[in-house]
Amino acid sequence: MAAVAKATPVFLEQVPDYERGKLRAAVCRLLEKTAPAVRRGDRVLIKPNLLAPAPPGRAITTHPHVVRAAAEWALDCGGRVLVADSPGMGSFERLLQEGGYAAALAGLPLEIRAFRETGKVDVGPPFGSIPLAREALAADVVLNLPKLKSHCMMLLTLGVKNLFGCVVGLAKPEWHLRCGIDRAGFARLLVAICTAVDPAVTLLDGILALEGDGPGKAGLPRPIGVLLASPNAPALDATVCRMLGLPPAELPTHRAALELGALPAAIEVQQEPPRVEEFRFPVLAPLTFGPRRLEHLMRMHLLQRPLLRSGAVCRGCGECVRSCPAKAVAAGRGGVVFDYRRCIRCYCCVEMCPHGLLRTAETAPGRLLRHLAALRDRLPRRPHRPDKPGGERPACT
Ligand code: SF4
Ligand code: SF4
Repeated sequence: MAAVAKATPVFLEQVPDYERGKLRAAVCRLLEKTAPAVRRGDRVLIKPNLLAPAPPGRAITTHPHVVRAAAEWALDCGGRVLVADSPGMGSFERLLQEGGYAAALAGLPLEIRAFRETGKVDVGPPFGSIPLAREALAADVVLNLPKLKSHCMMLLTLGVKNLFGCVVGLAKPEWHLRCGIDRAGFARLLVAICTAVDPAVTLLDGILALEGDGPGKAGLPRPIGVLLASPNAPALDATVCRMLGLPPAELPTHRAALELGALPAAIEVQQEPPRVEEFRFPVLAPLTFGPRRLEHLMRMHLLQRPLLRSGAVCRGCGECVRSCPAKAVAAGRGGVVFDYRRCIRCYCCVEMCPHGLLRTAETAPGRLLRHLAALRDRLPRRPHRPDKPGGERPACT
């Protein structure tokens, strides 16, 4: 008789706040259930979301108490712990201080620093060999600790997207430039990176999430009160989508994971997640039809543009200029100027403005297109054909 494949579990704990005692117990329970045994001397990499220097209350980074709880668990198992990421901006020292990591991790025998070295990994066509943090590739156990956040290019940043932080330094904008606005292509790259890093567990901090124009300071904190953990990042991401009332197929990385066979055949959610009402997603204009040679024009006129918030006064720090892979933004005393002909709409500038002064703004034709696409989606469809490639959906209980 053929063996029945076991469903991949997703575990959940409802945790109202970051009070250390209860949080630590919840994180330990989740890791005990999800993570493989860490042996004495194992190199354990903890990869939180350390996007930028920001206080924990802004919900831009994985909360320092979640990182501490995971580190204590790994240390108790006898692991040698490194906490590392490649922040998009700002000095790592400032990030440790402002983000509360220096205080939260004080006294623990571990190392915390930015990724230093890279090793090449062949993630398959069309990307080929890409440089990833050597520390992630050499670890015996990777604990992936994402934050639940909205994302103005990829809709949400969860478990799969968090591992883009293993692309070090300037290689990040370079890959953004190579993928441009091809969300599907970028999503495939993210899934390929997740598969290459192969985290043992993904544990998501959704206690204080970020909604609206995330993932940076333009987003708004939203208390949800959950931690989720799974040995499979795409399975966890699909569960979070359902919790937020979003069909998982609308998440670009979910579609890519289905396409690349990175989703398990069945997902078993061990405890019903709470229903989150009216989570504010960023608006993403669909760009799913039209000839490719018109892509530049469509990008210019249909996709949201980065923009200085009305009434905001640019501080001239230049972070948006440094993070722009297309060299399409200039900043000076007079404010910030975008060259929308060059702009590839990757929204790195919105993500990176340390003062949250940038936002995305829909164009009038883009808004019209979105309404038309919504109408199109309401039209009756042909019956689902499970034999078509990509037509299968994993069971989720
Ligand atoms: S201006 Fe902003 S959105 Fe446009 S390419 Fe540069 S970083 Fe990306
Ligand atoms: S828009 Fe923001 S990131 Fe860009 S220069 Fe002004 S303050 Fe700095």
